[in-house]
Amino acid sequence: MRRQVSLEEISDGRLYGKNDMVRACTNGCRDCSSCCGGMGKSVILDPLDIYRLTVGLGTAFEELMKDKIELNVVDGVILPNLKMDSDSETCAFLDEAGRCSIHAQRPGICRLFPLGRYYLPEDETPSESGASKEDEAPSESGANQPRRRTRGFRYFLQVHECPMPNKTKVKVGKWIDTPDLDRYERFVNEWHDFLEDVQERLARETDEEVKKINLLVLSLFYVRPYEEGDFYAQFEKRLADADDALDFFGHGNLNFKGQETNL
Ligand code: SF4
Ligand code: SF4
Repeated sequence: MRRQVSLEEISDGRLYGKNDMVRACTNGCRDCSSCCGGMGKSVILDPLDIYRLTVGLGTAFEELMKDKIELNVVDGVILPNLKMDSDSETCAFLDEAGRCSIHAQRPGICRLFPLGRYYLPEDETPSESGASKEDEAPSESGANQPRRRTRGFRYFLQVHECPMPNKTKVKVGKWIDTPDLDRYERFVNEWHDFLEDVQERLARETDEEVKKINLLVLSLFYVRPYEEGDFYAQFEKRLADADDALDFFGHGNLNFKGQETNL
């Protein structure tokens, strides 16, 4: 979700890469769970989050839709987010002791907090593939040639969100607790840029096409079950299928059949 706020207002004024030290470590959060409640619809889930939740918890997207996640429109695209309890306004995965019941499978936004991501403007884009030249990693084929020119992103520290005093310094990559960071950052970039392409496309389509495209994105990246194993390879395949189905690179196959869904 895009936020139109000044970075100076919400951060310490610095941008960080995955190898930088940042004063974000809450040292176990002690008895706090304040960022697990009152989040409204803001914890938006990406395909890796759904892979973690479905494969890691041995459940299906449709099952999660019963009471753990919900769908909302984000900048024109229908995407899932963590659902807050209607009475307590806390996340459905928060247990009675005030701890996350799915810590190992928690979504990317929860792993980041109190860090956020700042996507670089076009004229600040540092490299073809990702966060920075020095961070650039080869793709599976050994070539650094994603289909889109991704803009890259940096991390920033949200200074007004987490009340824990005396946070200590931690390496960004360690804090976000995600293996294979190079591939993870490539995925984050590609997903972000794909969604921007979809948003642009939706803005000039008819209502009927908007519905078809949203169903395609939902079906291909979220509802269709993932297999346990290499998430990134599965994502790349689905991304290529979506690009073809939406004719983003001139190899159009607009007859793409998404998985039937009753959502
Ligand atoms: S608000 Fe800060 S201290 Fe509290 S649970 Fe979230 S990250 Fe931990
Ligand atoms: S998934 Fe876990 S860490 Fe994330 S908001 Fe819910 S309870 Fe908190």
